[in-house]
Amino acid sequence: MLDGDAERLMAALEDVLQPNVSLSPILSIRTGGPARLLLEASNERGVCRAIEEARRLGIPILLVGNGSNTLVADTGFDGLVIHFGPDYADIVIDGDAVEAQSGALLPVVAKRVAEAGLTGFEFASGIPGSIGGAAFMNAGAFGRDFSTIVERVRCLTPQGEILELDNQDMAYGYRTSRFMQEGLVVLHVRMKLAPGNKEEILVRMDTYTAERRAKQPLNYPSAGSFFRRPEGHFAGALIEEAGLKGHRVGGAAVSTLHAGFLINLGDATTADFLALMHEVQGEVLTRFGVQLENEVRIVGVDPT
Ligand SMILES: Cc1cc2nc3c(=O)[nH]c(=O)nc-3n(C[C@H](O)[C@H](O)[C@H](O)COP(=O)(O)OP(=O)(O)OC[C@H]3O[C@@H](n4cnc5c(N)ncnc54)[C@H](O)[C@@H]3O)c2cc1C
Repeated sequence: MLDGDAERLMAALEDVLQPNVSLSPILSIRTGGPARLLLEASNERGVCRAIEEARRLGIPILLVGNGSNTLVADTGFDGLVIHFGPDYADIVIDGDAVEAQSGALLPVVAKRVAEAGLTGFEFASGIPGSIGGAAFMNAGAFGRDFSTIVERVRCLTPQGEILELDNQDMAYGYRTSRFMQEGLVVLHVRMKLAPGNKEEILVRMDTYTAERRAKQPLNYPSAGSFFRRPEGHFAGALIEEAGLKGHRVGGAAVSTLHAGFLINLGDATTADFLALMHEVQGEVLTRFGVQLENEVRIVGVDPT
C-alpha cells in the first residue's frame, strides 16, 4: 500500500482511522505486527463507508472480531483493519430471539440470554470470540455450532450491497460458511433460542466452563485449536501420538495439556508459530498420512 493511498483514505474518512496500530494486543495469540490503518467500528454506516472507500482505492481490508482465531504476519497488515470491538457490540433480546452487532462477545451474550431464561446458547458461552467471527467461522463446541442458532444475518458483499440472509442461504458446514466463501462482512446477527429454565442453563454453562478449564491451556495465549478436525480423526490425538506434546519452536509450543492447541510461551513470534505448524504438519503426515489443515486464519503470509 502506498503512503498516498493511506493519506487519501484517511482524508476521505475524516481522520477516524488510526495509523500504525499494534495488532498483537487484540489477537489472543499475542503475536503479529501493526495494522497500517485501523478503524474501530462504531456504526454500520461508518463500516460500510470505510469498506467502500478502501475498495475504491484498492486498499486491502482485514476484519477482526475478538481476534481469537487469527494469526497475523510479524510484518503486520499493510492495509485497513476493521475491528469489531466494544463500540459495535449492542445486544437486544426480543422474546426468544437475540439481535447482536458483530462485536458482541459470546460470553457476554451467553450471560445476557441466560439471565433472560433463554436456552440454546450455552455451548458458545466459553468460546472467546465475537458474534461476527463466530457466525463467519460457524464456531462450535459440545456437539453444536452456530448454524443451529443463527436465524438471519445482515451482511455486506464485496460489491458493496447489503444482503439479509436466512439460515438456509448461509452454506454452513464444519467451520465454514458463505460469509467465509464469498468474503461477506457480517454486520448484524439475529439468533433464535428457546425458553428454558434459568438455573439449569447456568448449571450447563458452569459444566462447560469446568470442562474447558480442565482440558484447555487457558493460562497461555493461543488461538484455540490450531488445526481443523481431519476426517475420521482428532488433530490433538494425532499430534499427541506423534510425540509432539511440549515440542517448541522459539516461543511457540504444542500444549502439554491439549496437543491441538499451539501456545505462546511469552515471547513467540508469528514466524515461530508458522515454523511449529509446519513441523507438526510434516510429522503427522509422515506418521499417519493425514494432512492437517489450519483452522486458524493466517493473514499476510502464505501458510503453505
Ligand atoms: C481458548 C480458546 C478456545 C476456543 N474454543 C473454541 C471452540 O470451542 N470452538 C470454536 O469453534 N472455536 C474456538 N476458538 C476459536 C475462536 O474463538 C472462534 O473461531 C471464534 O468464533 C472466533 O471469533 P473472533 O471474533 O475472535 O474471530 P477473529 O479471530 O477476529 O476472526 C476470525 C475470522 O473471522 C473473520 N471475521 C471476524 N469478524 C467478522 C465479521 N464481522 N464479518 C466477516 N468476517 C469476520 C476474520 O476476518 C477472520 O477470518 C477458541 C479460541 C481460543 C483462544
